[in-house]
Amino acid sequence: MNDDPMIPLSPDDSFSFDCSSKIGCFNECCRDLNQFLTPYDVLRIKQVPGMSSSGFLEQYCGQHAGPESGLPVVTLKPADPFTLVCPFVSPDGCTIYQHRPSSCRMYPLVRAVSRSRESGRLTEYFALLKESHCMGHEQNQESTVSQWIKNQGLLPYNDMNDKLLEVISLKNRICPGPMDVKTSRFCFMALYDLHPFRRHVFEKSILKDMTLDENLLEKARTDDVALLTLGMEAIKQLILKEP
Ligand code: SF4
Ligand code: SF4
Repeated sequence: MNDDPMIPLSPDDSFSFDCSSKIGCFNECCRDLNQFLTPYDVLRIKQVPGMSSSGFLEQYCGQHAGPESGLPVVTLKPADPFTLVCPFVSPDGCTIYQHRPSSCRMYPLVRAVSRSRESGRLTEYFALLKESHCMGHEQNQESTVSQWIKNQGLLPYNDMNDKLLEVISLKNRICPGPMDVKTSRFCFMALYDLHPFRRHVFEKSILKDMTLDENLLEKARTDDVALLTLGMEAIKQLILKEP
């Protein structure tokens, strides 16, 4: 069991933390990996030069089914099975820093979100995780939770991750549990593998029987965020059609 303290914080609360290559524990947090990737994490990592969504998923990821929702879930495969080190860490730090996943950006904060069934309103909760190996807490760099989120470029991640939460909540409510193989493959492509998804939408018209926002559909021809939003909307319609 992890005994490291979690200190609840509100968005305006300050905490003291900094991380840099000059700190003795540099790169320590990029091993012992147990990392889930959200669809928006994958969307961003595929922007790393030379990376495609299919290539990234094939080479670097494990695929699973969410235990409650049955929706596809993706994890980052460690480069080494013993140290569980991240495949993207180098002696100079993270090699995909500009496109690093949301959990790496959020650390040492933890964000949880709850959604009201009645109003659909989301409520955010934050905590500071004080792991004993992390010397970042000894540095004198103050920021509030809100400033941290903005400075780490987390706003678009949180926005898309909250949209995913809506899909998961709907699935759990309407038809929890495993999905058939065909639907599961569709959901995997629509959430994570955007390159073939775009081809299937615009060359094979796989969404032709759905009622989707025309502007969103048009934007999704060239815009990945619009394409992922479209994928989530399509999955919601599939869920709502479940008998
Ligand atoms: S200060 Fe913390 S976050 Fe930064 S490298 Fe060290 S362990 Fe990782
Ligand atoms: S993606 Fe980058 S920051 Fe995140 S664990 Fe891997 S090397 Fe570390």
